[in-house]
Amino acid sequence: MNFHLSGRWALVCAASKGLGKACAKALVAEGVNVVITARHAEALELTATELREIDEEVVVRTVVGDITTEQGRADALAGCPQIDILINNAGGPPPGDFRNWSRDQWIAAVDANMLTPIALIKATVDAMAERGFGRIVNITSGAVKAPIAELGLSNGARSGLTGFVAGLARQPKLAGRNVTINNLLPGAFDTDRLRTATQAAADSTGRPFEQVYDERRRGIPAGRFGQADEFGAFCAFVCSSQASYLTGQNILLDGGAYAGTF
Ligand code: NAD
Repeated sequence: MNFHLSGRWALVCAASKGLGKACAKALVAEGVNVVITARHAEALELTATELREIDEEVVVRTVVGDITTEQGRADALAGCPQIDILINNAGGPPPGDFRNWSRDQWIAAVDANMLTPIALIKATVDAMAERGFGRIVNITSGAVKAPIAELGLSNGARSGLTGFVAGLARQPKLAGRNVTINNLLPGAFDTDRLRTATQAAADSTGRPFEQVYDERRRGIPAGRFGQADEFGAFCAFVCSSQASYLTGQNILLDGGAYAGTF
């Protein structure tokens, strides 16, 4: 299937590794020029080299910076001549007990996982509408649908974004101008983040990493963790011309882990 994305420009945030990187890979494979961001230059440049190997014709630019800061966002936006596709992503907040979280920790989570994507949407969405094409994909979490107790910062901040997007995506001046905004909700994908979280769980219970990792894997009906590349492929489809009637949706990719009917 041809997604009709060749020559478009995408800003893919937090994309040196994991799900963001996989989205950038899938978009580059569709002929999309990308600007990728991350905080560390070395890992980002390695990813850029990998992306250029997928398609030499495609332009791959890097912007080093923390996307959750005003400067990081300004630099990312300035690095992209035009933004047809915006993939909002950032690291997730740490786990813990809400009794121990300070106001500053809450503000950091809301900044990273709610206000940063909203600021980037604000900076790009009207120009998309004017041009008659726009795709915004927010990488959120399965925790929006099935909250995870120790990830209260994530549950809260990402739910705020979800509510905001639900209202925005349905505005006729966006939906009626071929601008779609959707959230992708990863379940458990085998990325650095999953391994770090598994290691933390192993350390806190004194059990071996492999035991905790395997137990979690067996709890997923698909019997495996998701692979980042399958997440990226789905993201590219959501950005395609074929997906223009899909907006305001929360799409769970979790191998059947969420047990509800809806
Ligand atoms: P990851 O740790 O594998 O990769 C995160 C990427 O984001 C890295 O490239 C990192 O450098 C970059 N990054 C992090 N914070 C940044 C910042 N402030 N500015 C710029 N770049 C930044 O993580 P992942 O597994 O790909 O997760 C991506 C998002 O999806 C996270 O918000 C995570 O909480 C969420 N999520 C992941 C899973 C999973 O199973 N992997 C499940 C649910 C939700």
